[in-house]
Amino acid sequence: MILPKSSRLAPEQEAEVTAIVAEFGCKIQPIIGAVRTIYAILGDERDELMINRLEGLDYIDRIDRIQSPFKLMDRRSDLANGRLTLGGVTLGKELFVIAGQCTIDPKNPNFFYETAQAVKEAGAQMLRGGVWKPRTNPYTFQGDTKSLDILMEGSRRTGLPVDTEVMEEEHIKLALDAGVTLLQVGARNALNYSLLRAIGRALGTRTDRAVLLKRSIHMGAVNEFISAAEYIAAFGNPNIILCPRGTSPGLDGYRNHPDESITPLLKEKTWAAVVVDPSHSVGKASYVPACALAAVAYGADGLCIESHVNPSHGIGDDPKQALTPEVLHKTIRQAKQLWSVRRGDAA
Ligand code: PEP
Ligand code: MN
Repeated sequence: MILPKSSRLAPEQEAEVTAIVAEFGCKIQPIIGAVRTIYAILGDERDELMINRLEGLDYIDRIDRIQSPFKLMDRRSDLANGRLTLGGVTLGKELFVIAGQCTIDPKNPNFFYETAQAVKEAGAQMLRGGVWKPRTNPYTFQGDTKSLDILMEGSRRTGLPVDTEVMEEEHIKLALDAGVTLLQVGARNALNYSLLRAIGRALGTRTDRAVLLKRSIHMGAVNEFISAAEYIAAFGNPNIILCPRGTSPGLDGYRNHPDESITPLLKEKTWAAVVVDPSHSVGKASYVPACALAAVAYGADGLCIESHVNPSHGIGDDPKQALTPEVLHKTIRQAKQLWSVRRGDAA
């Protein structure tokens, strides 16, 4: 990783650095951070001669060689100085809440508009709504591209930015063109490296969009989770949120094995914000508030919660795990109180 002395390299400096690393079979990838742009060396960066030549340039501060399977996502990376702001919230400074329906029902758009307004009033800063759905059963509703318009209309009516899952390359462009702020990679695609690469490529260095990467559905090692995020970051976009959402096999009586407890471990290894999804983790509306609070107690920066104005009339996961706006409101209020306790503000 190349750290320049100034906030970014001038074009002729970038050209010189590019030419040097090319001699050693490497490329550079700019990563626009909040404080400065840094340059990842793509390829084998162990050649001492290459490092010495780069370090000899008077406009280079230093070369960081982090020995880590995820050198950009690593806590010791220069990217740790950046902060992501979404929906007016700087993650890490106050609790960030994404809420909304699991699945948008294209036959009942009014439910979505009412849900959007209700989650805003309950305190959410971002609206979620599933347009395309990864369903275990191929004969159940798989989502509908028409719902993208409903999602964006919900965003316009409330002023909230939106989050939706993308499962195929085609979805990425549709979602970005429509104005989706947060692209969600679901638990089933969390290790789909070609999709992760496609997202990284599509976002490039765009600082106005971000990715919510769920933890893979099977209980993989935490390093595997962070390395999946590295696939996206390697294309230059550090706007990545990690989302534990429970793993499989589930804990007896729960949909999955709740894993909000990995939050401190993630925070030790990486600088990325952690937004926990308690809805898929426990899979039952009555258990969701406790799981949400546990996530905040463990140090999560935010929550992604399924909510619906009328859960029993919802589709997808909503009948079983969506919170009503009243319960969502209470959960957010309590989560904020716990956040203050965590920070040591409360007596
Ligand atoms: C969802 O968010 O509705 C969803 C399908 O999530 P996951 O990928 O975590 O199962
Ligand atoms: Mn869902």
